[in-house]
Amino acid sequence: MENKSLNKNEPIYPIGVASKLLGISVHTLRMYEKEGLIITARGTNQKNRLYSIADIERMECIRDAITKKKYSIPSIKTMLSLIPCWKIINCSEEERMNCPAYNSIGTPCWAYDHKDNICAIKNCRDCKVYNDFTNCDDIKKLLKEI
Ligand code: SF4
Repeated sequence: MENKSLNKNEPIYPIGVASKLLGISVHTLRMYEKEGLIITARGTNQKNRLYSIADIERMECIRDAITKKKYSIPSIKTMLSLIPCWKIINCSEEERMNCPAYNSIGTPCWAYDHKDNICAIKNCRDCKVYNDFTNCDDIKKLLKEI
């Protein structure tokens, strides 16, 4: 029998299922997306939101940071905005100067509408910067490795 390995990044769960798995409302999941804490995949009709196992893990960490550690959403966004994406994807000096994520604080790099820079043509859901920081508890450990 074929052994299909589980792809953690494949969007498979509709929003109702993700909401049940996480024990948080659909409204809250939409809010995480609106705030730029998560990039949600869309189904083939481009309407339905779909979530992967990695998305569920990411939102578990965000949920716990908010409900157990009492972080606010702006503080999580600020923490994520400090990830030095320019080092991870190795932007040139010129690209850095044109990048809103490099020049400001408070919003994760993937939440900007990038134009005229290296990230304009990238899909952030596939990016190392976005994916390496799926677990918000690992941020400090990962920063030490950069
Ligand atoms: S491609 Fe997206 S996630 Fe990656 S560094 Fe650029 S803005 Fe950030």
